Amino acid sequence: MTGTPLPRLAPGSTIGMLGAGQLGRMTALAAARLGYTTHVYAPDAADSPASQVSAAATVADWDDLDALERFARSVDVVTLEWENVPVATVEHLRRFTAVHPGPNVLSVAQDRIAEKSFVNALGIATAPWRPAGSADDVARAVAEVGPRCVLKSTRLGYDGKGQARLDGGDGAAAAWAAIGGGKAGVEGIVEGFVTFACEVSVIVARGGDGAMVAYPAVENRHKDGILDVTIAPARVTPETAAEADRVARRIAEALDLVGVLAVEMFVTPDGAVLVNEMAPRPHNSGHWTMDACASDQFEQLVRAVCGLPLGSVERVADAEMTNLIGDDVLRWPELLAEPGARLHLYGKAEARPGRKMGHVNRLVPRR
Ligand code: AMP
Repeated sequence: MTGTPLPRLAPGSTIGMLGAGQLGRMTALAAARLGYTTHVYAPDAADSPASQVSAAATVADWDDLDALERFARSVDVVTLEWENVPVATVEHLRRFTAVHPGPNVLSVAQDRIAEKSFVNALGIATAPWRPAGSADDVARAVAEVGPRCVLKSTRLGYDGKGQARLDGGDGAAAAWAAIGGGKAGVEGIVEGFVTFACEVSVIVARGGDGAMVAYPAVENRHKDGILDVTIAPARVTPETAAEADRVARRIAEALDLVGVLAVEMFVTPDGAVLVNEMAPRPHNSGHWTMDACASDQFEQLVRAVCGLPLGSVERVADAEMTNLIGDDVLRWPELLAEPGARLHLYGKAEARPGRKMGHVNRLVPRR
């Protein structure tokens, strides 16, 4: 263990939350369970999933310095549920209060090139990749990493958005246009396509004193680029699970993270692990912990940023988490009636296609 313990914030303190979506909501609920209150800050915080369950909400832009200062002075610590909060916003907040995770973590996690460079520098493998700033760069990168590849925007992509598949260099111009290439601020990264046996993720919580806990690797299945089902734990060999755990802990430590980090990885057919991406916040693939573990991922975030000891990651059952995307949420009556199904809804009024509306956890006896 390294690091300095954070000041311990007692129950009754206020946690500031940047971002107002479902991850903020579930963190606010975990905070409330431990006697903390939450103040949400986001441009879209009005009647949001997080503000519905928080004591206060500030609706203001990320560059509204006065609103940020008022917010920072009204809370005891700040955390976030969205890693793309501008680094300048966090730098400004830090003049008035502590923010965890800090700007060093965000600048790595906000940019796929920074992220992959950071991971590779630790000796951890990723898919082969090349930066691409033009259609010509894309064509050159395809020649280098191999014909089957994916072009991704380096920033602000999620749930498969800002991505284009390539099969050979011919489609370079079309792929570049598809991710918005040529628009101000858009840069690309070409990644070799990984023929994976499965996708896994590991969620690590780390305190200011360097203490760490990690949930077991889980298996993630995607549909249309969006997480569909998480199976906990992953059906991989003990060696692969241990390697995924080692990789996630190594990254959290190297980032000097205070908070929660999700690391998504590909498992190759021979059991090797390649990092795909990371998110320094609670993650959709950790929602199963809400019903199957002694302390869930949201409580771990509260504990980490409030300087409390981390909770137990003990798993009382195996679990399968299914996302409710768009109209899936209309199935709530039958899910409520299903014995043992644990329904979590996010309070979003409109069920747009592709929108995460809730999830359901089903527990099964431990394998
Ligand atoms: P991402 O936004 O990077 O998490 O990508 C979304 C999903 O696309 C991943 O979970 C994978 O299923 C797929 N994907 C992304 N990059 C690759 C890759 N290099 N090789 C194979 N599949 C990929």
